[in-house]
Amino acid sequence: MLDRLTMPFSNWSVEPGNTEGALGYFARLVDDEGHDSMRVYSKWIEVNGRNIVPSSLLEVVCDLPISDDRRRRLAHATPVERDGSYWLGGQRFARRDLSFRRRRWCPACLAEKPYHRSWWDILAVRRCPYHDLELVDRDIDNRPVGWWWPRFDVTKSGNALAGPRRPNVLRRGTLAAYLLMRMDYEDAWKAPLLDGLDATVVIDLCHLVGRLVSNSKTDSIPQLASRTVDAGYRALASDRAHLVGAIARWMERNLLRAEIDRSYSVVFGWAYDQARSLLDVSAKRMLLSAFRKAHATVLTGGHASQADDDGMVSLTELAAEIGVDRRGLSSLISALGSAGKAKDGKRRMSFDSSQIAEIKREFGALLSREKVGDLLGIRSWEISPLSAAGYLIPVSRASCDGDRGFRFLRRQVDEILRLIALIPRVSTGASRKFRAYCRAENRPVGDVAVAILRGEIAVRDVDGRTGFRGVRIALDGNQLPERQHQSDTISMCEE
Ligand SMILES: [Zn+2]
Repeated sequence: MLDRLTMPFSNWSVEPGNTEGALGYFARLVDDEGHDSMRVYSKWIEVNGRNIVPSSLLEVVCDLPISDDRRRRLAHATPVERDGSYWLGGQRFARRDLSFRRRRWCPACLAEKPYHRSWWDILAVRRCPYHDLELVDRDIDNRPVGWWWPRFDVTKSGNALAGPRRPNVLRRGTLAAYLLMRMDYEDAWKAPLLDGLDATVVIDLCHLVGRLVSNSKTDSIPQLASRTVDAGYRALASDRAHLVGAIARWMERNLLRAEIDRSYSVVFGWAYDQARSLLDVSAKRMLLSAFRKAHATVLTGGHASQADDDGMVSLTELAAEIGVDRRGLSSLISALGSAGKAKDGKRRMSFDSSQIAEIKREFGALLSREKVGDLLGIRSWEISPLSAAGYLIPVSRASCDGDRGFRFLRRQVDEILRLIALIPRVSTGASRKFRAYCRAENRPVGDVAVAILRGEIAVRDVDGRTGFRGVRIALDGNQLPERQHQSDTISMCEE
């Protein structure tokens, strides 16, 4: 038999609203009793009303003879402290993520139904995701509304808390919508980088990334604006390539090339420090990896790799793996840069799996000076002018067997052979074989080779198989005007 006299309320017909927790529900029951102070009423029913503790109010309302479904919904929407964290909507928040000091609300939500939505207590939620209004914590007289006041339609002085009605559309690109989804109040969607993390970690990440991508580069940590956290959420809401792209775009917008070629702590500043001090190991690893990948992407002028493997390897690690001097690997990467793949500056670099595969491929295909001579149809000591003219970039210290000789990129040799094959030819007239021409003109072979590639010497024919050896030089009448030899490159050959 129910004894109404021992019940804390005489009436509990008020139905809890969607996302309404014990705190707001308790307040509405107090109002329903005709009382106008939560504090006084709580004291009266022997609940500590001085410091609002949502879980003790949950116990009070759950003792009422209400349905299990109602109890379950109220418990789900009530923050409960456990093990130093608050659990709200099945999600873990840090104490600093929530505030019950004074009420915050969306005037358009209150216009729909006057009760307190528990997610208004999450401080990171600065805007209502349904009405795109900033949450307010003061009435029209600029006065805060304390939790002692049990009504949600008006303040004690009669000011309306609700505003005009607005269209109600969930904005999915907001942290608030994501949190509501995680709390099971909205249909599920996927955010692969965030779904495995606690809500409190998600909030930290969205603040960090939002502050970074929605500001220019600053020395101090930028202030939060009402949409900052949502900018962070949108950068983090998709896959890793999307996040890397967002960070890379920020770098390209905000840093000069010389600034990009610096250490991570210089490039990302406070954001790098914050990322390194994230307590959650997987969040920290994910964000630092995205920073490194964005950095490598912008430095190499490449596109963010779609590879989903997180392993970024440093230059030193990669050199050790290949078994080559670090300076040798650096030299190879510089040469690759000159071949149009990467840009200058490798002081602080790391590589993802696809870049590593390419570097290893190029490393395995490096050619000795002798081999380059063979392929180009000249002698090994005759290739220096090609190197001086930039057609071949020598790679130093790139041998695993201790040989200190220069090596050369296969792709650059292939490019020279391609240029030879494509040389425009003079259709008629006398000609002389390449080497015979050099002898007759008394010019170093390497210089003539460079002149041919530059189109300074007219070519009669090319056999297409033996490099320069297969080139026949046109002799009469069609000779192109020869540029001055020492014009724009440093020749390493004596005349
Ligand atoms: Zn709203």
